[in-house]
Amino acid sequence: MSFEELNLIAPLLEAAKKQGYAAPTAIQEKAIPPALSGRDVLGCAQTGTGKTAAFAFPILQRLHTTGSTNGKRPIRALVLTPTRELAAQVAESFHAYGANTGLRQTVVYGGVGQDPQVRALTRGVDILVATPGRLLDLWQQGFINLKSVEALVLDEADRMLDMGFIQDIRRIAALVPRQRQTFFFSATLSSDILRLSGNLLHNPVEVSVAPPATTIDQIEQIVYIVEKRDKLSLLTYFLEKKEITRALVFIKTKHGADRVVRQLHRSSIPAKAIHSNKSQKDRERALDSFKKGETRVLVATDIAARGLDIDDVSHVVNFDMPNEVKNYVHRIGRTGRMGAAGTAITFCSPEEWALLSDIESLIRQRITIAPEHPYRSSRAYWVERPEEKKANNPAAPLPGVTYKRKRGSGRLIPTRWV
Ligand code: AMP
Repeated sequence: MSFEELNLIAPLLEAAKKQGYAAPTAIQEKAIPPALSGRDVLGCAQTGTGKTAAFAFPILQRLHTTGSTNGKRPIRALVLTPTRELAAQVAESFHAYGANTGLRQTVVYGGVGQDPQVRALTRGVDILVATPGRLLDLWQQGFINLKSVEALVLDEADRMLDMGFIQDIRRIAALVPRQRQTFFFSATLSSDILRLSGNLLHNPVEVSVAPPATTIDQIEQIVYIVEKRDKLSLLTYFLEKKEITRALVFIKTKHGADRVVRQLHRSSIPAKAIHSNKSQKDRERALDSFKKGETRVLVATDIAARGLDIDDVSHVVNFDMPNEVKNYVHRIGRTGRMGAAGTAITFCSPEEWALLSDIESLIRQRITIAPEHPYRSSRAYWVERPEEKKANNPAAPLPGVTYKRKRGSGRLIPTRWV
């Protein structure tokens, strides 16, 4: 299917062309036609699927073809996102997609001074992209009027719930007119999500695109069994290789991320960290320099990285295993985007081993364990699966270590080390 067949107006077709989009992605093909006819949309799709254009195009078309853009502009479309980075990214997309429409848009989020945001709002915008906290803050101060909103978007709704924005969302929903078009996008559809979407959407068309598994197929996944204390040396060893052109390294804690950046600097590997303790300016600068290719290594925590649209990440490195199994999928989805090849490297200490089998159950795939590397844990032989064990590995469990046998595979998993 082509963009023309979606019945988009010329300014949008031109924008799609300018972006180099040859054809709509699956989510765009499914969501745009019903959205253009005014239906509410419940979309199950992740970042990387082209979901932003799936709501931005119909909204831009609606605003462009109805109402005038002269005189004072009331906010007619409101897009809510969980994080500042995603908000900035979505606003950038609206800017690009709406370049020929004459519509104005701006973005508001916390962590930066509000004055420039207030000035932009005062000048009048048709489309507002916002994180919930700052939006309510500015609304309370009287800088925002949501009474003319015709289109409401909740982007990454599951993430908003995870981050505790449910009350904020309810409050905001009560501030916009009932008579409106609502777009609700989420990577997962849990019962909480369905309850919330049920309250916000009216007879929505449900569209979903291939779950992460299809993305994962293009990603080479390898696990390195390494002691915690050797992880940094292993990371340095990898980053000294030239083929790692752009690496996104995931660390569990903010302090951990800062520490890794400092230590990489000592090995003359420039890296930048992105996490919620950094100022918005620092985060933007880090992201920008990574996107431009000036910094080869970006060290991030899960929250900071979620939803970021960074193209051409050659490698995702899970320096720490993710706290939650589903985060593994979110993390490695940063590579292998839009059909590109990518590699996901996971550092797993024997203590983190149990998580690995949970991840494998989730993605319904075995992840290859690297047989040899300079920092291989001396305990690695014990956590390897039979097919990966070397012939000379002892077959008997280690004395003093407690194991549980995993149902199904029969694998022994150490639960407590001496
Ligand atoms: P999103 O899921 O909206 O964050 O989009 C992910 C990436 O896909 C962005 O870099 C978009 O520029 C790109 N993209 C969106 N739609 C298309 C399309 N129809 N063809 C090619 N790339 C696209």
